[in-house]
Amino acid sequence: MRAMQLPTDLEPSLPANMPIAGHIDPVPVPREVTPRDDGRVDLIGLPKKQIAALFETAGLDVKAAKLRAKQVYHWLYHRGVTEFENMTDIAKTMRPWLAERFVIGRPEIVEAQVSTDGTRKWLLRTADKHDFEMVFIPDADRGTLCVSSQVGCTLNCRFCHTGTMRLVRNLTPGEIVGQVMLARDSLGEWPKANDTRIGTMAGLDFDDDDEDAASAYTPDGRLLTNIVMMGMGEPLYNFDNVRDALKLVMDGDGLALSKRRITLSTSGVVPMMERCGEEIGVNLAVSLHAVTKDVRDEIVPINRKYGIEELLQACADYPGASNARRITFEYVMLKDKNDSDDHARELVRLIKQYKLPAKVNLIPFNPWEGAPYECSSPDRIKSFAKIVFDAGISAPVRTPRGRDIDAACGQLKTAAEKKSRAELDRLAEEKQAALG
Ligand code: SAH
Ligand code: SF4
Repeated sequence: MRAMQLPTDLEPSLPANMPIAGHIDPVPVPREVTPRDDGRVDLIGLPKKQIAALFETAGLDVKAAKLRAKQVYHWLYHRGVTEFENMTDIAKTMRPWLAERFVIGRPEIVEAQVSTDGTRKWLLRTADKHDFEMVFIPDADRGTLCVSSQVGCTLNCRFCHTGTMRLVRNLTPGEIVGQVMLARDSLGEWPKANDTRIGTMAGLDFDDDDEDAASAYTPDGRLLTNIVMMGMGEPLYNFDNVRDALKLVMDGDGLALSKRRITLSTSGVVPMMERCGEEIGVNLAVSLHAVTKDVRDEIVPINRKYGIEELLQACADYPGASNARRITFEYVMLKDKNDSDDHARELVRLIKQYKLPAKVNLIPFNPWEGAPYECSSPDRIKSFAKIVFDAGISAPVRTPRGRDIDAACGQLKTAAEKKSRAELDRLAEEKQAALG
């Protein structure tokens, strides 16, 4: 059992129709996952079939491999067990056999912080020593985990702190689903053996009409109820890994979270949006942030490649969007940049023109050292929100959370990493050179 025997879709991959690297396109980066020194294989991130294939390669016959894979999969993803020794329905002699060949990984926690408002932030580290972050935001009626898809980001939206970082690499399916598993570990939220919900949940495979079953798993009192792919990185530039991870999250015998409780946020990677709807099927959020070409070109540079019209058309065509499952447009409020009444009216006009089932999230800009923008004033935000709201479109203003711990998704950073303005400029230049 060696790393080279890992199933092929763990290899670095960009979807076949992904545009080639260029000024704004992603730069394909090697996965660079360092194989474990001990030669054991981490099972986290693998679907049942691949686990079965690995068991077969390790010497089990087809039938035994399939049965063991089913049991192990359930323990890993549904019960959150981290030791083979605790898989009680697997023969005692079989458990050391598994432990010699496989591991059950989690991202390493470098630092965990809790804000005065209950928001939690973790600085995590991959096995090959790259740091990324995850944030948990508790609310009265839900708890939302903000998950990263890449270490850094190839794009460089000007208001986003992640945009000043270089892309180090895509996170693997294991590192993506591992974030959710780690959050469940920390929140103590794995189902217990005597949990009556398990009997009804095991083996269920949620699809379109299974919302009731899925919500049975997330009763009142459960902390982690929702996931947003809004941490570091552009999830649609790491499509395969994000899809594979979310499939494990959505599987009724896996983490069993309904796709209706998962939202993927994109800066507007138009060619991947349809596949996102078809192959993942989660809710879509679009980082619109501006309604004119000039402003969006400046603050969300991918707009130079895929313009506003093309983006909104892709939203109109997004599989599964409806009045019951609206597309969220994120709009960060930047003083004197995108926040006038005229901008608000144009936003309404565009949403109506494309007949979009939409809601708008107004996000007060969260400043970071050296950022070239300021947040709009509260009155300006109110006035903007009123225009959108009066047009019949929901437009909540998002309360900043966890500011005392720098927890805003998408601009995640730690005090330890704080860089001087000069260093930020240098990184931005280097990044531009690499992309150009
Ligand atoms: N790359 C994806 C997902 C990660 S960014 C995307 O761009 O959609 C998640 C969200 O955080 C985006 O809407 C982004 O615009 C927002 N964001 C980034 N930096 C921010 C800041 N400084 N203040 C407020 N929101 C910010
Ligand atoms: Fe990347 Fe999203 Fe930040 Fe833009 S807003 S730089 S796409 S993480």
